[in-house]
Amino acid sequence: MPGFELFGDSERKEVNDVLDNGVLMRYGFDAMRNGHWKAKALENELCRALSTSHVQLVSSGTAAVSVALASAGIGAGDEVIMPTFTFVASFEAIMILGAIPVLVDIDDTLALDPKAVEAAITPKTKAVMLVQMCGSMGRIADIQSICEKHNLLLIEDACQAIGGTYQGKPLGSIGDLGCFSFDFVKTITCGEGGAVITNNSEYYRNADQYSDHGHDHVGNDRGAETHPFLGYNFRISELNAAVGLAQVRRLPEFLSIQKKHYSILRDAIARVPGVTFRTIPEGGVENYSFLNFFLPNQDMAQRVSEAFKENGIDACWNYYDNNWHYVRKWHHLKDAKSLYPLSTEIKHELSKLNTTDFSQSDHWIGRNISCLIKLSWTEEEVNERAKKMSKVITDVL
Ligand SMILES: *Cc1c(COP(=O)(O)O)cnc(C)c1O
Repeated sequence: MPGFELFGDSERKEVNDVLDNGVLMRYGFDAMRNGHWKAKALENELCRALSTSHVQLVSSGTAAVSVALASAGIGAGDEVIMPTFTFVASFEAIMILGAIPVLVDIDDTLALDPKAVEAAITPKTKAVMLVQMCGSMGRIADIQSICEKHNLLLIEDACQAIGGTYQGKPLGSIGDLGCFSFDFVKTITCGEGGAVITNNSEYYRNADQYSDHGHDHVGNDRGAETHPFLGYNFRISELNAAVGLAQVRRLPEFLSIQKKHYSILRDAIARVPGVTFRTIPEGGVENYSFLNFFLPNQDMAQRVSEAFKENGIDACWNYYDNNWHYVRKWHHLKDAKSLYPLSTEIKHELSKLNTTDFSQSDHWIGRNISCLIKLSWTEEEVNERAKKMSKVITDVL
């Protein structure tokens, strides 16, 4: 997944353009820029790459999720349905708006289980956040029809799935709003950065203004601009955008390398009896940033995971005991350990997490192993890895 592995001359050139004129900010200073508008150029490239009408760059993927929700009017007291398996950013982005995260089970896609989503809907539910984890996707058509039926907003967190598609449409572009991260370990990186995408021009205008203190961005005198509503600062810097501009142009190259490496590893371990793969909904194409597979039971998955480490096979995880990606170890969330007071509604919802039955999620996460696909491997390294992985799994099974 990580585009940083192939950081090179094209990234340096874009950054140098910015350093040469010294305009590190994405807005204003027109005369000083020598025509360089890296954030704008990156937004245009992303519009094309993601087949969407509008892209708003922001400072992180977490900011993208908050800005997406805020732009669609989600806030205090609104419930947002999210999965048990994601990154902590999902609930952070919801809670910072005063909205309430409602955690529900995942299924064999490693994303939201549509049945669990439907069961969690209450009169306060306003949005469903479908996190397209580890390079693939959930049952998006089913979740979309649930959202339509109940008049809920569908937010796609495609931070880990840029370049994946469903029925020919880029992941992130199918919901009402899509979110991307360009942090240092994502498929394409800005160092730090994120994007909100949408075909809804009102949400886009809101995102553009909200992420820059409410600036209306009319005219070319920032100080004279008006503030139609309250905003915050979630701006990306021109330096970060410059890195992303070089990286987005290399996305097709990155995806094809990932696909090649992924296919070699998958073909090898597919021959081991007992190994099954994460379900990809029909019509879905992964971005091949992770290879996800299941072992027959949790004990075997843990033994394979340990044996991988002992045999030098790095970057493979069983997320059951992971601190950052799975609900089991989110004790800070379950115990509402906030530096500042949280609303009673949020505290009430969080308190349920200590007793909610997530055995369905445990079933899938406990048996899963998720292997990062690196861009920098040589063909020899991938082949060697494929051989080692199948031998280790065979030995454990
Ligand atoms: C990385 C990530 C985020 C947050 O992105 P940052 O840019 O690190 O804030 C959100 N959701 C998912 C699924 C992610 O993987």
